Amino acid sequence: MKLRKIISTLLAAVMLCTFLCGCEDLEEFLDYDLSAEPRNHEELLVSHYIDVGQGDCEFIEFPDGKTMLIDAGTSKSSGTIIDYIEGLGYSEINYVIATHPHADHIGGMADVIKYFDIGQIYMPYAGTTTKTFENLLTTIQDKNKKIKTAKAGMNITKSENLDFSVDIIAPVNDEYDDLNNYSVVITIQYGNNRFLYMGDAEKEAEDEILEDKSDVSADVVKVGHHGSKTSSSAKFVSAVGADHAVFSLGEGNDYGHPHSQVVKRWKKAGAEILRTDKNGTIVITSDGNNLTVDTEK
Ligand SMILES: [Zn+2]
Repeated sequence: MKLRKIISTLLAAVMLCTFLCGCEDLEEFLDYDLSAEPRNHEELLVSHYIDVGQGDCEFIEFPDGKTMLIDAGTSKSSGTIIDYIEGLGYSEINYVIATHPHADHIGGMADVIKYFDIGQIYMPYAGTTTKTFENLLTTIQDKNKKIKTAKAGMNITKSENLDFSVDIIAPVNDEYDDLNNYSVVITIQYGNNRFLYMGDAEKEAEDEILEDKSDVSADVVKVGHHGSKTSSSAKFVSAVGADHAVFSLGEGNDYGHPHSQVVKRWKKAGAEILRTDKNGTIVITSDGNNLTVDTEK
């Protein structure tokens, strides 16, 4: 009896220690005070490129305290994403964007939508017959939410006081042969800083964005289609002129992402290369003038 008591006390101590160490790691990595929930934004824009292996997932904290999720990796990543967002102190996501209906972007989204309070949901006018996609639509319906159809020229939110605006610059057209080209492409402007999120948009979509005269210049770009050579045309890369190029992908993936020429192209254009397969989760913070980059590894 006595021995059992000692063992259970030891076990509890080990569990508590693991929990505390986990929090400390996250706190140290993110440089946050996790005891203050939800944390004090101090009018910062924080863009988290969450490592979900081969897939895409960006969680963005806006300077007005609201939040946005762009994509949610594969179905395997939903636990990681939920823990991460909850770890930051949020129970609500104000804007959810499903860039296009491929499983490496919407796979974990149904679970995330079930778990959190959700504001507006944006998707392109594109569909497939996959179980993953149907499951997502059913989840949205069960939650009594409506989907807003994303199109170039829409504003998601803005604040003149904060000099802050979130806009959709693609899809420009209504019909594409490839689902990737339906990708919702988003720009965030905050003071003197600009962020661009490309989804899996390929060259055809990039050309249309440029023809549409959208401002693609950015300090930070989430590179299109995991660094595949079907995206990041030379013309587009030079128009963006980013200082930081983030590639979201899994180590040793089956697709050969990223393509070495694409990495070279962004580097040559002056961008620091950041990769979730090498750096883990990447966090880029803007105060409207300066950027700071933190990586998990
Ligand atoms: Zn993809």
